[in-house]
Amino acid sequence: MPSVFTHEFNTPAFKGKVSFSTGLFINGQFVDGSDNTTIDVINPTNGKVVTSVSEATPKDVDIAVEAAQKAFDTVWGLNAPGATRSTLMGKLATLMQENADELAALEALDNGKTFNFARNADIAGSIDCIRYYAGWADKVTGQVLETTEAKLTYTRHEPIGVVGQIIPWNFPLLMMSWKLGPALACGNTIVLKPSEFTPLTAIKMCHLMNEAGFPPGVINVLTGYGGTTGHAISSHMKIEKVAFTGSTLVGRKIMESAAKSNLKNVTLELGGKSPNIIFDDADLEQAVNWAAFGIFYNHGQTCCAGSRIFVQEGIYDEFLKRFTEKTRSIKVGDPFAPETFQGPQVSEIQFNRIMSYIESGKQAGAKVEVGGERQGTEGYFIQPTVFTNVDPSMKIVQEEIFGPVGVVIKFKDEDDVIKQANDTVYGLAAAVFTQNLNRAINTAHRLKAGTAWVNCVNSLNANVPFGGFKQSGIGRELGEYALHNYTSVKAVHVNLGHKM
Ligand code: NDP
Repeated sequence: MPSVFTHEFNTPAFKGKVSFSTGLFINGQFVDGSDNTTIDVINPTNGKVVTSVSEATPKDVDIAVEAAQKAFDTVWGLNAPGATRSTLMGKLATLMQENADELAALEALDNGKTFNFARNADIAGSIDCIRYYAGWADKVTGQVLETTEAKLTYTRHEPIGVVGQIIPWNFPLLMMSWKLGPALACGNTIVLKPSEFTPLTAIKMCHLMNEAGFPPGVINVLTGYGGTTGHAISSHMKIEKVAFTGSTLVGRKIMESAAKSNLKNVTLELGGKSPNIIFDDADLEQAVNWAAFGIFYNHGQTCCAGSRIFVQEGIYDEFLKRFTEKTRSIKVGDPFAPETFQGPQVSEIQFNRIMSYIESGKQAGAKVEVGGERQGTEGYFIQPTVFTNVDPSMKIVQEEIFGPVGVVIKFKDEDDVIKQANDTVYGLAAAVFTQNLNRAINTAHRLKAGTAWVNCVNSLNANVPFGGFKQSGIGRELGEYALHNYTSVKAVHVNLGHKM
């Protein structure tokens, strides 16, 4: 029998008791992993074990795939009208809404993000996403294509079948929702692996999916490690599609496993080193506020974080002064305290990785304008950090740090900054700050990125596509675009009388 996670929250932001089973969720039931092993869940605020969850093995992946296939062949896929899928997804969104505080508290406990951001961004965005795709479930249609009068030709957008989904720890419930929404709307069944660092909201969601009335096997959630469970999903011969969010390094492995197994369809949402460009004529106060939000939101653990801040020479000194002041004023601390902006990094591994990037910047001769050290002695807190005096060869300029560490770089003019901004293997997002409309639009168009923000950053909507150019990914999530990831298009030719 899987263990039950019980926790009493007594925080300024949320008070209440949560209690739920932490097993693998297969065929609508919570079960132990086939090896009966577990994974500890750590509270990043103090490094202590919160609970443990069942660990899935490749054998459990086989069992989950079988359950998902059975559900696809009997109660889901083409056997469940879009309206039925829509109703269930709508019920799930309502239950998420009813449990929003609890979900936010779990996210804060497990990931270290603040309760406020979890509640107002992650959970609210997750509910929006499931509702948005509930609306699509009965609107997935093909086309009638005119050919000749002797033929009726049309396309059907059929669900793919059993799909695998592998998600990271930075926005646990939000990434789950981005994956579940379009897959369910199109009629697929799912085997999903959350990150073992942050499994709690995914498991809570399984309870809500049962309550909503999803048939057993439609959604299966396996907590496990990437190298075993994740690999078993991406290389499974009966999984027809895999969607992944995480590092470019692992994204490559996913593609390789897909190629070496059954050539499954792959979508990847990967890393970034997003440029944030601030021209001389920008509203300076706004640019400072947004730039800080761009890099420090979610502790810098955001794939589209504006980690390279380019500032035009005319305002560089004033911008830097205000930006370092703003950075210094950021409240780092308890995720449940109302005034906190930044909690701990998600794990000791990430903490060490970020600190080693900070060290490499110092060693390479970059100047620490603010921060640059661990905060406190307990948990995985890092001071919001700003480097200047950098050059393009430095690791801190080229690589995704995924922490509260930004670099500020001076530029001359539009051509200069576009060249520098595009000088990266990534292409996820970019931002431009200016009050000149022509310059804003020209720059947005010249940047090689899947998302270009003008006078804002980190702004996303469920109905607007998100994804990367270059090594930031393949395919688009969100919006109508994401539906294309989850259907197979069949062309049907009906002979209306042509004789041989
Ligand atoms: P990973 O890319 O390693 O992990 C993302 C997910 O993939 C996790 O569920 C992980 O499981 C799984 N995974 C790992 N290896 C495999 C594999 N061989 N086959 C299938 N699945 C696998 O991210 P990390 O947690 O290691 O973070 C490392 C870096 O990745 C960060 O510093 C950041 O730069 C980047 N990152 C980017 C994200 C984004 O949104 N673009 C999100 C998270 C990280 P497990 O946790 O067990 O390894």
